[in-house]
Amino acid sequence: MKAIVIGSGLGGLLSAAKLSGAGYEVEVFERLAMIGGRFTNFNINGYQLTTGALHMLPHGPTGPLAHLIKEVNADVIIERQDDTAFMRIHEDLEKGIYKDVPFGKFGSTFSAWNRIKLALLLLSTRKWSPKNCSFGEWITKNLNMPIAHQMADSFCGWALSLKAADTPVEEAFEIFENLYRHGGPGVPIGGCKAVTDALADVVRRNGGSIETKTEVTEILVENGKAVGVLIDGQKHMADIVISNIGHPFTNDLCKDAPTTTQYEQYLDKIRTINPSAGVKICLAANEPLIGHGGVLFTPSAKRVNGINEVTNIDPNLAPPGKHLVMAHQTVQWDRIPYLEEEIDMGIADLERIFPNKDYEIILAQSYYDGWPVNRSSSGTDIGNTTPIEGLYVVGDGAKGKGGIEVEGVALGVKNTMNIILG
Ligand code: FAD
Repeated sequence: MKAIVIGSGLGGLLSAAKLSGAGYEVEVFERLAMIGGRFTNFNINGYQLTTGALHMLPHGPTGPLAHLIKEVNADVIIERQDDTAFMRIHEDLEKGIYKDVPFGKFGSTFSAWNRIKLALLLLSTRKWSPKNCSFGEWITKNLNMPIAHQMADSFCGWALSLKAADTPVEEAFEIFENLYRHGGPGVPIGGCKAVTDALADVVRRNGGSIETKTEVTEILVENGKAVGVLIDGQKHMADIVISNIGHPFTNDLCKDAPTTTQYEQYLDKIRTINPSAGVKICLAANEPLIGHGGVLFTPSAKRVNGINEVTNIDPNLAPPGKHLVMAHQTVQWDRIPYLEEEIDMGIADLERIFPNKDYEIILAQSYYDGWPVNRSSSGTDIGNTTPIEGLYVVGDGAKGKGGIEVEGVALGVKNTMNIILG
């Protein structure tokens, strides 16, 4: 059996590693000159900057991605520092007066009445998950105080690049459940690139091939079945095609898609997909700004949702004695035309969060449309199958339920492999 994979992002490489390990002949085609998509590094003056992710796996060494990495025998070390997530609550943002509250004790800043409500909610929602509203609406109904909204926005902004008001409450609570189940974040030693390079090694070791600078221009469909792809006018035939580029771009490549009601319904679902946008600001610091390898959530900031300092786990991600610090902020869809203003507001936040600290900004990146934070914002994923037989979609355009970022990518790949391999 032969599988063609379009795109060498994390989802494409995980699928290729799994299928090649199961005896499939696998060919991966990547249009860029490098592999890894939004999950790899590039070296700028000794700082391992990234094409997307912040070198962080949401559930560290015990999450779905770590399990899949082990399952395919990829050589990756993932490290986690326990209890290192904090909420930085500013009593006075301008004067720089704040306290760092451990993530698990975020309720300690609430009013006495809301602390009692929170304790009851924490118990009851694990049994009866809330449904049919946004996480923001749920907060308004249950804990209506500004700090609760700010914390929810900070968490959703960091984890999903969404506002709480745009996050389905079911998805938010599935994510909390996964945090209980799998634990908090960790960092792959060597950063994102260590993961995607190790997966590429597995594919090659299993006899598969990965071609860079090779763009797929069409998915060949015959009688409602995917039979291969077109590259430079040449047909490459296969038994199955795995697309790592999300449903909308996958559909664009299907020039001979069937004109059935089922396909029309699929197109309707595709129209509901909205990629999430964001801005990442990378700092080179001459001293630790956070001092741990977890996440500093910043609910009081105007734009920045959270910050990490991965060099506290892997010092080699920056030159000796230096720190790599990355701040993430969601960008609302109506603000995409004003990205420079969004970046300036993020930089102003960082000046207030780290007054008198010795750092410089080395890169500000924006992510939207074809290179977004998520190809399908969380909770709006439409699954891994398509109405075209033998055509599957993996990656963050088709995540598994409750999976934050790359953990969702791993859940989606696992689901796809269960369908294909049984
Ligand atoms: P993609 O990265 O989308 O790769 C798809 C590949 O397909 C690309 O290489 C592209 O060039 C190629 N391609 C496209 N069209 C074609 C074609 N026609 N022919 C051939 N190749 C093609 N996740 C985390 O877990 N932790 C984080 O800290 C984190 N932070 C993030 C911060 C930012 C700013 C961003 C942008 C993302 C972040 N993420 C994070 C999300 C994470 O980076 C993505 O979910 C993940 O990398 C997506 O992988 P993917 O499998 O969807 O593939």
